[in-house]
Amino acid sequence: MSGERKEVAQLGRKIYDKRLVAGTWGNISIRLEEHQNQFAITPSGMDYLKLEPKDIVILNLKGEKIQGKKNPSTEKPLHRYIYKNRKDVNAIIHTHSTFASAVACTRKKIPPIIEDMVQIIGGSVRTAKYELPGSEDLAKSVLTALRDRNAALLANHGAVSVGPDGETSLKTAEILEKSAKIFLFSKLIGAPQKLSEEDVETMKKIYKSEYGQEG
Ligand SMILES: [Zn+2]
Repeated sequence: MSGERKEVAQLGRKIYDKRLVAGTWGNISIRLEEHQNQFAITPSGMDYLKLEPKDIVILNLKGEKIQGKKNPSTEKPLHRYIYKNRKDVNAIIHTHSTFASAVACTRKKIPPIIEDMVQIIGGSVRTAKYELPGSEDLAKSVLTALRDRNAALLANHGAVSVGPDGETSLKTAEILEKSAKIFLFSKLIGAPQKLSEEDVETMKKIYKSEYGQEG
């Protein structure tokens, strides 16, 4: 049993406990360290609390099943497209978290308003053009929205967070949800003020060099 299958199951429990998903919605995947063109992904429609490593499915980048008895998540095209086009990404978390989804319903972006958001996500969070769930068109529109970023919103649907490993993608999903919440609340008082482009670039550089030292 690969370590990645175990980690996907554990992350499933975490996103459920952190209320980033409800019921069986949302999905998670991790790229296999030994086979860069394969990834471990959650099965479709399974309770996160009952998820075990053996339930996690292994697919290749063509979407063909390599291992596992269950059917993979219906959002497999989304995961496949991201791994194929973003060599820096090794873990993907797709959530239906409340505040990110609220902004996604407006089809607007979250401007760069909070420092941790800028550091981990890389600037504003774009909303991908609406396409039906599970479709290749959705996968393509999300990939476009994710350009130079580690998170994107899915119009009238939810959010996706990516990163170099599972824990970083989970942290990104949490920061994204927190940023969406701050954005919405600050709009109740007035117009949230954006960070300057110069400051955004400086913070991204600092975060990258710190991450490099840790990693
Ligand atoms: Zn979804």
